Amino acid sequence: MSSANFFIKMHSADNVAIVVNDGGLPTGAVFANGLKLVQAVPQGHKVALVDLPQGSVVRRYNVTIGTALKNLPAGSWVNEAVLDMPAARSLDDLPQATQAAPELPTLDGYTFEGYRNADGSVGTRNILAITTTVQCVSGVVEMAVKRIKTELLPKYPNVDDVVGLEHAYGCGVAIDAPDAIIPIRTLRNISLNPNFGGELMVVSLGCEKLQPERLLPPGSLAIRDERSAGNAPAELDVVCLQSDKHVGFMSMIDSIMQTAVRHLERLNARKRETVPASALVVGVQCGGSDAFSGVTANPAVGFCADLLVRAGATVMFSEVTEVRDGIDQLTARASSPAVAQAMIREMAWYDAYLAKGSADRSANTTPGNKKGGLSNIVEKAMGSIVKSGSAAISGVLSPGESLRQKGIRSGLVYAATPASDFVCGTLQLAAGMNLHVFTTGRGTPYGLAECPVIKVATRSDLARRWHDLMDVNAGRIADGSASIEELGWELFQLMLDVASGRKKTWAEHWQLHNALVLFNPAPIT
Ligand code: CA
Repeated sequence: MSSANFFIKMHSADNVAIVVNDGGLPTGAVFANGLKLVQAVPQGHKVALVDLPQGSVVRRYNVTIGTALKNLPAGSWVNEAVLDMPAARSLDDLPQATQAAPELPTLDGYTFEGYRNADGSVGTRNILAITTTVQCVSGVVEMAVKRIKTELLPKYPNVDDVVGLEHAYGCGVAIDAPDAIIPIRTLRNISLNPNFGGELMVVSLGCEKLQPERLLPPGSLAIRDERSAGNAPAELDVVCLQSDKHVGFMSMIDSIMQTAVRHLERLNARKRETVPASALVVGVQCGGSDAFSGVTANPAVGFCADLLVRAGATVMFSEVTEVRDGIDQLTARASSPAVAQAMIREMAWYDAYLAKGSADRSANTTPGNKKGGLSNIVEKAMGSIVKSGSAAISGVLSPGESLRQKGIRSGLVYAATPASDFVCGTLQLAAGMNLHVFTTGRGTPYGLAECPVIKVATRSDLARRWHDLMDVNAGRIADGSASIEELGWELFQLMLDVASGRKKTWAEHWQLHNALVLFNPAPIT
């Protein structure tokens, strides 16, 4: 970038813009249009483009992000301390499916190399997952996984990895409470993720509340049972640590390893084959956001989301607290009133959940978000929603639900989840995600063992410093060296390469794996 001073204005009606220059700009800095800073403004933070008298409306993305708490002359730094946040949008009288979807011509001919599953889903990785019913077995499973990786995995070169699906749930919980359905179905549906090839094996303690038959009842196992078409469904493969047959710790480890061998053999016999891009199930998410998220990375992801929808793939966006303040835009974009009403139900459920915990919407936006220039959740939401592109929203999932079980095979879907990175990622895995795209401005090393995560930096400065953690630099959009369209296409191509196993993400390279974190709104006993 040249030494000139730059700001980015998102919409012609905006009266603030964000400062682009690395390191921010000092008092007295002058822009090409003659605007002069009356105080220093950090990178990514907002500058008043005109005089903003106290009480005047401050607009970014052509949306009111607040009112001025004091007189802010042109060239002032506009941050959370001088802005009053607007009230939350009521869920009554929202527009429902009122906005005609844009023309999105079909995109044919794009393919990747994936692992076909019996139920029609496609894996991007070939992983043995060991399901656990309860946290009590975690240490044992961890030891078994370590030994499987060193002693068995080298004999099965077509298997990418072995993963213990460990979590904090399973016992000491109010398992009959209505909301317990969320963690239970999340864990069930993760076990059936397309990247695990339908090979189910379970490690159970024995006395826990979440018994294996409750976690994986017959009938929930379509992906597994369709594999054995014609034959009677196989018994659920369970290693129970409290079983009388185990004498000593090594007996448990041996039993898990012997069970693993059967599944590794079947997984190893699988081969990648050419499948249409429509088999992609992409979850998009952001974390550690800054003011550039909604200018560079998220618009590029949004452009790519449209490409995926055009190619017949499924794209999920999530993060209730980050879309709540733009709910009217989303219900207007719903493909039918029923879809709009499902979104409103999810928002209402989450409003009540936050109220029960005496939290309000100001609980979202972290200190890092504010440091990065995002003054409040309204501004953050506008930047977050851009990731969803422009397609009609054609489906809605409640937390932990699976796309396949809801009959959803394509299109843009709203999967309701908390915004918390690892909780959202966990729920998107349960939905059936086989590829994850994650945008960040502040930077996070986030990754998942279960599915590749492509990380997109919002700023060139972050991409340079974290050159071996960030997969894509969307900061080139702010630098003027790439357009949103170019970056969107680049990301689309990278997705096909990563899905095919031709490229690994940095998180895969370093094996950076965040824990599965189940969303459990029910009581713990
Ligand atoms: Ca997030």
